[in-house]
Amino acid sequence: MFKKYLNITILITVIVYSLNSFTLLYPQQVGDEISEWSQGYLDIHFINIGKGECALCILPDGTTLLIDAGVVTGEKRRIVETRPSDSRTPGEWMARYIQRMLAFKSQQKIDYFVLSHFHDDHMGYVDETMRLSSSGDYRLSGITEVAEYVKIDKIIDRGWPDYSYPIPDPSEMVENYRRFLKYQQSANKVRIERFKPGLNDQITLLEMPEKYPNFEIRNVAANGEIWTGVAQNTRKHFPPLAQLDERDFPSENMCSIAIRMSYGAFDLFSGGDLSGVFDEGEPIWHDVETPVAQAVGPVEVNVLNHHGAMDSQNAYFLSALRPRVHILQAWSSDHPTLRTLKRLLSERIYPGPRDIFATNIMEANKIVIGNRLKELKSDQGHIVVRVNPGGERYRVLILDDSEESYRINAIHGPYQSR
Ligand SMILES: [Zn+2]
Repeated sequence: MFKKYLNITILITVIVYSLNSFTLLYPQQVGDEISEWSQGYLDIHFINIGKGECALCILPDGTTLLIDAGVVTGEKRRIVETRPSDSRTPGEWMARYIQRMLAFKSQQKIDYFVLSHFHDDHMGYVDETMRLSSSGDYRLSGITEVAEYVKIDKIIDRGWPDYSYPIPDPSEMVENYRRFLKYQQSANKVRIERFKPGLNDQITLLEMPEKYPNFEIRNVAANGEIWTGVAQNTRKHFPPLAQLDERDFPSENMCSIAIRMSYGAFDLFSGGDLSGVFDEGEPIWHDVETPVAQAVGPVEVNVLNHHGAMDSQNAYFLSALRPRVHILQAWSSDHPTLRTLKRLLSERIYPGPRDIFATNIMEANKIVIGNRLKELKSDQGHIVVRVNPGGERYRVLILDDSEESYRINAIHGPYQSR
């Protein structure tokens, strides 16, 4: 009799467990509209407008972080067309995507906007054809346009308040951005800060930090000041400017902000347009990836530096991070270069499987990449990294970017965090 009860108990346990793991494994199907964020999850959306980088992060307690909001300009045939179409501006498309993903909130806002560096494909180029803001003082493109639709609480960049390192940038794009900041600060009480390398308490959970003590955003690098990996200590990687020939000055890309986002065993690296492969004759300190990699260590997800361009993802960087997943936010015909792709795929550099996802590969580049294109898991669409509560497991979802359907075209994973 006892044995019979025991068997029934085991049977019920098995059924309940299977149902549970079934729903855990398959919360969504291909063809579904992506479900909204729910508490405990970490969702990172790489929004593909085809004009640069833009990543919306919804942190485990609902705090929101936007990294970059780019609109690039340049030779048309070398740049991806606006997704989903030219019927709206890229800034408006980004804002609409963000509004849709934050629809679950009673008050939709971006708690933190982090601008990795001052290039158009990360902040939005400006010309006289662009619409003026309601204040009339600055033009709308990229982040200044997103802010027209979605409230921002705090802006963090590498230059505030003087924007003078390594040399002042007199471009209309940066001037426009500074007028935007001035207006946001006085009219909307937006707080503005300079990113401080080494800290792990500049970007924090704001709603329920005590509930998720294993979540952290570590400030890794900016302006060549790099976290050492110990406490909040940093060191200056670039020599003092006074010692340098102006042609060797750190480039804008080399000054990019880099962060590591951790949730339990899950880690993601994002470093703007940092470079790590230097040309013949360049000083070796132009390689910023190597000291960054020494501090960061292994991660699950690597957001490719500099869109996978030829000066990015050096072998040391890849072997130290040994990512399971690479995310490429591409907008140009050389994203990625074949040489960079070969390094990403090389099991000599680091062993084991790795999946590469790109938001966009241009037709011209598909011809150059040839057969290796098959090695990418995806070459078109918004990419969503959805990390389970606690950070143990995560999936990569590819969303349709041909219209505002938010439909899932593919689900990859679950991957196990290490
Ligand atoms: Zn860029």
